[in-house]
Amino acid sequence: MQRREFVAGAWLAAGIPAGGLRMQAAAAAPAPARVLAVSAHPADFCSRAGGTLIKHVRAGARAKVIWLTQGESDESAFLIRQRPGISVDEVRRIREKEAFACAEVIGAEGRMFGFGDGPLRMTPERMELLAREIADFKPSLILTHWKDELTYPTHWRTAVSVIEAAQMARASWDIRFFEPNLGTASRVGFVPDHYVDIGEVFERKIEALKTLAAQPALVPNYTVCNRWRGLECGRQYAEAFVRWAPKPPVHDLLGG
Ligand SMILES: [Zn+2]
Repeated sequence: MQRREFVAGAWLAAGIPAGGLRMQAAAAAPAPARVLAVSAHPADFCSRAGGTLIKHVRAGARAKVIWLTQGESDESAFLIRQRPGISVDEVRRIREKEAFACAEVIGAEGRMFGFGDGPLRMTPERMELLAREIADFKPSLILTHWKDELTYPTHWRTAVSVIEAAQMARASWDIRFFEPNLGTASRVGFVPDHYVDIGEVFERKIEALKTLAAQPALVPNYTVCNRWRGLECGRQYAEAFVRWAPKPPVHDLLGG
């Protein structure tokens, strides 16, 4: 298994380190060539990491999104209120179309599994499918949900499944967790250890979010979220991440 060992500077691989140190080194780090985002619902990958994905695509990376569900339950309340009597199949069709439109604005390819929402259940067969998809794409970086988001079982199940599937696929062990559901970060212990400055691509991210018409609250809510994360790292707008760290970092010396 190709597990990335932590070495001095590894925290700078794709973002701004918490505390704002070594920002120039972070900016100069090469973009991973293949970035995979695994999203429980149609919108999650974009609302939490859309700016980061846009930046990686602009830097020459190939980006892919895997959606585990079409969000017909947990993410479609507004659409169902707007269209009383709409069938579940129609909700799924609309949400899938929106998901792919969103990925297109970002410049990412997509794969919809549509495993069923509310809550997501991962059978051994579904785990095999996910692992095979990861193995085929060979990501150098994987973005997914926060591994401790127990207040939202479908998000939590996605994170745990991605960790396990990455191991099954013998894929990259460089996994970054993005924001939990808005307003829950402090309750589920999500404390960012690095950020990505998305100021230069923020308008493009908003364009991508607007394709998700079934969730009009995303634009105002994530404008606040990204501004707040920007304040935490001294930038206009930022996205926040925690790095999966199965092994602690080892340094020769402490220092700048
Ligand atoms: Zn979600």
